[in-house]
Amino acid sequence: MSSIVAIVGRPNVGKSTLFNRLIKRREAIVDSVSGVTRDRHYGKSEWNGKEFSVIDTGGYVVGSDDIFEEEIRKQVQLALDEADIILFVVDVEQGITPMDEAVAKILRQVEKPLFMAVNKVDNAMRAADAVEFYNLGLGDYHTISSVNGSGTGDLLDAIVDII
Ligand code: GDP
Ligand code: MG
Repeated sequence: MSSIVAIVGRPNVGKSTLFNRLIKRREAIVDSVSGVTRDRHYGKSEWNGKEFSVIDTGGYVVGSDDIFEEEIRKQVQLALDEADIILFVVDVEQGITPMDEAVAKILRQVEKPLFMAVNKVDNAMRAADAVEFYNLGLGDYHTISSVNGSGTGDLLDAIVDII
């Protein structure tokens, strides 16, 4: 059985964009509207000769901000149950939001290997802004741009290193 990597994070951080890049096929639905990915998507990926499965944990029922926390808790829990490795995605454009804090709080208690990807680091200036994510208490992070692919190779190197 190949390892399962679950991509978790609040809506609109770029989970589906990253998923599409990892599986190199456009399966997940990506939209500029927050939370538009409705279902969980599964895909296969391969890096450095190692195969693994990827779950895009969309599925947030997004109506208003106040339902977020309970909904995200459920989604993250589902992902955690299935996954061997957690890939937590945050967004340097928005910075840390209360929902990121809520997810991080859950993830701090999880014993599975965790990688944090600060997404939307499309240029070097944004890399400096990523330092605030140390405040989530999850340790180090990888800066990536799911749109232009920068940093995703280093992230994948680190992930398959433990597979
Ligand atoms: P999800 O809700 O977490 O699955 O996020 P999506 O993948 O649907 O992306 C939400 C929005 O962020 C879309 O408009 C994407 O084009 C945009 N986005 C995703 N990754 C990046 C990135 O690396 N850089 C920039 N600038 N925008 C991104
Ligand atoms: Mg999505």
